Amino acid sequence: MGTPTHCPYCALQCGMTLSRGGAETGGGTGKRGGAETGATVRVAPRDDVPANRGGLCQKGWTAAELLTAPDRLTAPMMRRSRDAPLEPCTWDEALDRVAAEASRLRALHGPDAVAVFGGGGLTNEKAYQLGKFARVALGTSQIDYNGRFCMSSAAAASGRAFGMDRGLPGPVTDLAASGAVLLAGGNVAETMPPFMRHLTEMRDGGGALIVVDPRRTATVRQADLHLQPVPGTDIALANGLLHLLIAEGLADEDYIAARTTGFGAVRTVVNAYWPDRVERITGVPVPRMREAVRLLARAGRAHVLTARGAEQHARGTDMVSAFINLALALGLPGRAGSGYGCLTGQGNGQGGREHGQKADQLPGYRRIDDPAARAHVAGVWGVDPETLPGPGSSAHELLSALGTAAGPKALLLFGSNPVVSAPGAAAVEERLGALDLLVVADFVPSETARRADVVLPAAQWAEESGTMTNLEGRVLRRRRAVPPPDGVRTDLEIIGALAGRLRAPGEWSTDPAEVFAELRRASAGGTADYSGITYERIEAEGGVFWPCPSRDHPGTPRPYLDRFPTPDGLARFVPAEHHGADEDVDAGYPVYLTTGRVLAQYQSGAQTRRVPALAEAAPGPFVELHPDLAARLGIEDGGQVRVESRRGTATVRARLTGAIRHDTVFMPFHWAGEGRANLLTNPALDPVSRMPEFKVCAVRLEPAAASPPHAPGA
Ligand code: SF4
Repeated sequence: MGTPTHCPYCALQCGMTLSRGGAETGGGTGKRGGAETGATVRVAPRDDVPANRGGLCQKGWTAAELLTAPDRLTAPMMRRSRDAPLEPCTWDEALDRVAAEASRLRALHGPDAVAVFGGGGLTNEKAYQLGKFARVALGTSQIDYNGRFCMSSAAAASGRAFGMDRGLPGPVTDLAASGAVLLAGGNVAETMPPFMRHLTEMRDGGGALIVVDPRRTATVRQADLHLQPVPGTDIALANGLLHLLIAEGLADEDYIAARTTGFGAVRTVVNAYWPDRVERITGVPVPRMREAVRLLARAGRAHVLTARGAEQHARGTDMVSAFINLALALGLPGRAGSGYGCLTGQGNGQGGREHGQKADQLPGYRRIDDPAARAHVAGVWGVDPETLPGPGSSAHELLSALGTAAGPKALLLFGSNPVVSAPGAAAVEERLGALDLLVVADFVPSETARRADVVLPAAQWAEESGTMTNLEGRVLRRRRAVPPPDGVRTDLEIIGALAGRLRAPGEWSTDPAEVFAELRRASAGGTADYSGITYERIEAEGGVFWPCPSRDHPGTPRPYLDRFPTPDGLARFVPAEHHGADEDVDAGYPVYLTTGRVLAQYQSGAQTRRVPALAEAAPGPFVELHPDLAARLGIEDGGQVRVESRRGTATVRARLTGAIRHDTVFMPFHWAGEGRANLLTNPALDPVSRMPEFKVCAVRLEPAAASPPHAPGA
């Protein structure tokens, strides 16, 4: 008997069972050391979870090793003076200092002097409590989270098209019955391998997989059709596909008339995206575009999916809108077994953006500037709605303002590592250094934690309970399998202790079940209504899809079947014009850089770089480039390369491959130090979602002098 739970990493939230005891046998185990147990924690995949059905990727198999990270934080630490080293201290010393400093800075500069930064990996309970803590205990509007760097463009585009943002349009198993799937900007064969089995089943049944990506990735190698555009040109490509669909008489006119509005304006825009022009902009040959359109239109059931490659752009919201327009013209959204979907990245990227850690939101996906929403949530929190702050700054804007005259003077950070993951990372480090107080709650000394004034050792994944909402919109149970090490507290305990010291009004339970019960009340009547979801139902039903507005409601696996949650019940076409990348190539910076993930690492790498098998499989940063480009630049396979953008320089090893365009290089972003991809990326923001343009910027490359081999963990 083990503890059924889910993987700590990505939004597929693969089911796994954790069991204790027995012999330690290679990967898939983590040995809890110290006096507490000495027990071995073993991972086994669950076959009762539809998302993975018995599969796990290498990250999931080795997840238990996180429990025994050699540098696990087990005692609070703080600096006694500005330049002093971090030293162990008691919990009372650490929490007293945080509360006293926060109070002092608020008194001096006002409530927005203290900012909060969360993460898309936090459970729903923690994300909810963190948002409440910011608004009620600190009274600050300055809260946002790293999900802004992940999902925000897809969320914004889905909201304006459908009136709601929920990752996939139905259970992930619907994909297997599709006749065609177009996947724009996602490399699921590496980022969430068990997801591929749904696409493989589709192909085995005669369906076609079409992948849009500047690289010939592992996913592309399993596809039927590859569209390989110049980075940053996806709007032109999607508009070109829609142009062809209309020109060939394949648009679903009945559906468009019955279930949508705004098609006329979009048709006018895409008229100007005739095939030859789109080929010139994107580099995608017209016959391939035509084939893609025909595969989709003749598929019967079909899906259009986007992921970060089509979303992390300064026009990311419009990019997603362009793909949604294509899906609407095909008549897919709101039809069972079809639709538009976004592949959420972080483990709780979906739930994390529903319950209040986003600068403009209150729980239940409510807007913080909506008086009715404020009144409802304030009622649950037991405070006057007038005391709730208004919308704050988006993640990059918040980080950029830290320590400035008008910006926050203190930052409390939970579950994020912006020193590695934020764009223009060198500038972010500088801003963190300008703060009066940086507090980091984490379970390992991440690159950001090492810069903190106070470090609070937090429980992780298998040591805590709560709920996560996966990429399907299915709410799942995370269950505690082992107790945290001595000296470690859960984030809920940390938030509760700080709220008490700040004399915050209302209840601050540290019990996840009680916090979830409060979350349910706060979300009731909102777009993301969890009020009918209980821990018991999740257990009995294998998860519950939101919205679920009452205990006798079955949940909503497939929203939009009858109507879209817009005022008139119709989905909206939204015109999108191609603008190209914010920073195009030129004589000084002649090559496009795009960034992404590799199989054996996850996000900023703070967790996966500490798992020996993963560190061995993907030991350090690299730049992938075409052999022809390398030959022109005098770069050799395996040689050191300087990659320079207008924001900084990274030094990494070259990896030559014919699987990438001649004009584009690729760098994964999982590592710190001189190989950090985010030293180079462009923080230009999407005007709607405030998403930075991670996916394309202009760089130049040259061979670098040899440097020592990459240090583990760096
Ligand atoms: Fe974990 Fe995602 Fe891998 Fe599944 S695909 S095992 S959820 S990292």
